[in-house]
Amino acid sequence: MTEPSRSSSYLEDEDVRGMRLALCEAAQAAMRGEVPVGAVMIREGLVIGAAGNAREGLGDPTAHAVLLAIRRAAAGQRGWRLLDTTIYVTQEPCIMCAGALVNARVSRLVYGCDNPKAGAVRTLYQVVEDPRLNHRIVVRPGVLAQECGALLTLFFENLRSRQRRAKFSGEMAELVDCA
Ligand SMILES: [Zn+2]
Repeated sequence: MTEPSRSSSYLEDEDVRGMRLALCEAAQAAMRGEVPVGAVMIREGLVIGAAGNAREGLGDPTAHAVLLAIRRAAAGQRGWRLLDTTIYVTQEPCIMCAGALVNARVSRLVYGCDNPKAGAVRTLYQVVEDPRLNHRIVVRPGVLAQECGALLTLFFENLRSRQRRAKFSGEMAELVDCA
């Protein structure tokens, strides 16, 4: 068997690693009763901002995982330009979050599953790649898409059937390894 080229396989591994961290944020959000979406911002291999969706807990319609991760990363570095960063998000960002990523000058966006009802990166709109805007973001969709989508499916199934609540934690633990 021939090995894939070192640079591309390195990036693949880094993206899977980043997405696993985002999945853990999503799983923790689910345990708080939030729709499980997680986001992790990385620069030079270090996490500079991470968050799960907190819309219910904060009672804030803007408390999406991406927005919170951007705020935390910017606060940590005391500046609004998040240059040379990659953000990992379990689900394709919405219009609000895609707009925030452009404004934050994020370099690269890696996301998991598509968002058929609100996706603003590829599905409904292509906000972060729009040539009319003054900043564009390199996009890689579909990383661990199955796990990211399964977490959302499990969550909504659980909402519909209370008997599944106990089983939910076990199934989620199988999907997401947060050790
Ligand atoms: Zn959003």
